[in-house]
This record gives sequence, structure tokens and C-alpha cells, in this order.
Amino acid sequence: MAELINSGHTIHFETQLKPLAQFLEDAKYSRIFVFTDRNTSEVCLPVFQSMLGDFTNFDLIETDPGEENKNIDFCIGIWRTLLDFEADRKCLMINLGGGVITDMGGFVASTYKRGIDFINIPTTLLAQVDASVGGKTGIDIENIKNMVGTFALPQAVFIESEFLTTLPERELLSGFAEMIKHGLILDAGYYEALKKADFKNLDSELVYRSVAFKNQVVTEDPLEKGLRKILNFGHTVGHAVESYALSNSKKPLTHGEAIAVGMICEAYLSTKNSTLSMDELDDICSFIKSIYPIHFIKPQSLTSILDLMKSDKKNEHGQINFSLLESIGKCEYNCKVSEKDIRESLLYYSSVYED
Ligand code: ADP
Ligand code: ZN
Repeated sequence: MAELINSGHTIHFETQLKPLAQFLEDAKYSRIFVFTDRNTSEVCLPVFQSMLGDFTNFDLIETDPGEENKNIDFCIGIWRTLLDFEADRKCLMINLGGGVITDMGGFVASTYKRGIDFINIPTTLLAQVDASVGGKTGIDIENIKNMVGTFALPQAVFIESEFLTTLPERELLSGFAEMIKHGLILDAGYYEALKKADFKNLDSELVYRSVAFKNQVVTEDPLEKGLRKILNFGHTVGHAVESYALSNSKKPLTHGEAIAVGMICEAYLSTKNSTLSMDELDDICSFIKSIYPIHFIKPQSLTSILDLMKSDKKNEHGQINFSLLESIGKCEYNCKVSEKDIRESLLYYSSVYED
């Protein structure tokens, strides 16, 4: 499978980490750190080590799994650990895990001593098709996602389907939502292919195409001045629903589950405020409904969810910004939507699941 170039760094596919072995040999880092969470230490680290010929020449930094740990307190712990190890600027951090690990590891690496090199090896489908590409790092502040972060590029990204074999179904479905989004905003043919695909057993060619879509967009607009905003489709509502659930429910939503809610709401908003047809809206809703379970949204939570949208970091001049579909495969950005329509879209979401 081909590789993709992104502003000088390469995204490698299905290489069994062979180019990484060569890179480590050539680069002569003073020390190598592998950053994992407890789950990826257990199931991904042995695979990583064996791909690199029983590699042991590294120090492990391990954190607790879960989005609730993607915060500044954990970063301080990691910076301290690096200091305790007397890590200098010539050391390397390899982030081996899902989006929490690649986002937080990238943030820690890009700020420690004003920046050390890092490599991303995403081990969730979500991190493969989304977080690991595009050079955004970040942590959450009080459950508001990615409030603090940097734009920083890894030296390289490695995508290996072998890591996905241990990933729970719910996590596969989480990443699949971003792939659906790529089809909806960029390529109707790809969306149709996803409708026929089995998310539990994905063809790596589909993963490759999704990464290529994301890479194409972020290469054209790395700092999100314009085009990159289309990647926010489903995320204005989705992020607010996700943050609300993180603070208020016992079983928080996965990112993809929240984005699935957001895509239905924003597809609805696209029929009202852009040119998406009713038939296309029905098609999107029935596809999403066929694979994602319902998320109950209480009418009394609507105001809090709206307040969260108002604090979205993508807003400009206090206006909530939407990316909406003109049709399946075509997206416009910087769309303004009334508060009334946003409330209506959340009620529409619930009605889709009642049918
Ligand atoms: P994401 O934002 O990519 O969903 P997380 O870093 O929160 O990422 O990962 C989701 C969960 O899946 C975490 O509990 C993590 O430890 C676990 N995980 C990550 N990769 C794997 C894997 N390859 N196999 C099994 N579990 C994994
Ligand atoms: Zn997302």
C-alpha cells in the first residue's frame, strides 16, 4: 500500500514498522520513550516490540486509559517523569495508543523543553483515520475537549491494521463515524462503499482512503483558515453532546457515537440552511440509525448543550459556526444557524430513532 506525504513527514501503511526500525537506527536519539496507556501497554506494546525485532531499548511512560485523563495534571506527571529520566532535547517520544495518547503525547512532546521529536502509532481506528493526521495536539480543560494544544507535526505516522484486531467493537464503531463523515463531506462514492462495508472487519483500503481524504484537506489548509473547517461537520453539535455526556452521564459516549448524533442533527440543519435534499437526509439517518444505538437526550438538557456550543473554540465573534452539506459528498463552511433550528435538530434526532 502506498504512503502519504504530509508537509515533509510520511504516513506509512502496513509496513510492520520496518521504516521505523531504520529511522531509529539512523536518527541516533539520546533516549527513546514509549508512551502508552495501561490497555495499549498490555495488548499493543508486545506487538510493537515484536514488529521491531523484540525491541527493548526504550523507557515506558504509562498512563491511565480514558478521555478523562487527557488533562494537564497527567501532562505535569509526564513532564516530571521526563525530567527524572534527565531527558534532553535529543530524545524521542513514540506515542502508542488511541487518540488520548497521540493527542496528549504530542502535546507533551511539542512543549517539553520547547519541543522534542515524536512519532505517532495510532492503535484505534479513530486515531488512525483522524487524530494522528493533521498535526493537532491537545488536552481537555474541565471536560471541554482540546481546549489547550499546539499545532505540531510528528516525525512520522505508522498505520498498522494488526493493532485493530484487539480493539472492542464499540471503539471500531467510534472510528467508523469519522470515515462516514469523510464520505459525506468529500466523496459520495466512498460513502456508498461504506454503506456496504462491515465495520467489524474493515478492508484496509477503506482506512487508507479515509486517511488520504483527511491528509488532502489538512495539507491544503493546515491551520484551519478555511477548507479544513469541513472536517467539523457533525462536530459542532457532536462535541457539545459529547462534553455534556462526559459531565452528566454514568456511561460517557465515545467520540464517534457523539459525532453520529451530531451528523444527524447537522444533516437536518443542512436541509434547512443549505441544499441537502430530504431524500439524502433520510438516507444518512437510516444508515446511521442502522449501526449506532440511540443516545437519549432529555429536553431539559437542551439549554446546557446549547451553552456548550456557544463556548466551542471554533466560534468567531460569538457566532456558532457550522459546516453543512450541500449534498452527499459536498460540504460548505462558516454557515450560521439560528438557535431555534439547533434545538429543533436535537429533537429531530430523537424522532429519527422513534420511527
Ligand atoms: P480514541 O480517542 O482513539 O478513541 P482512546 O485513547 O481513548 O482513543 O482509546 C479508546 C480505548 O481503547 C482506551 O481504553 C484504550 O486504552 C483502548 N485501546 C486503544 N488501542 C487499543 C487496541 N489496539 N486494542 C485494545 N484496546 C485499545
Ligand atoms: Zn472527530
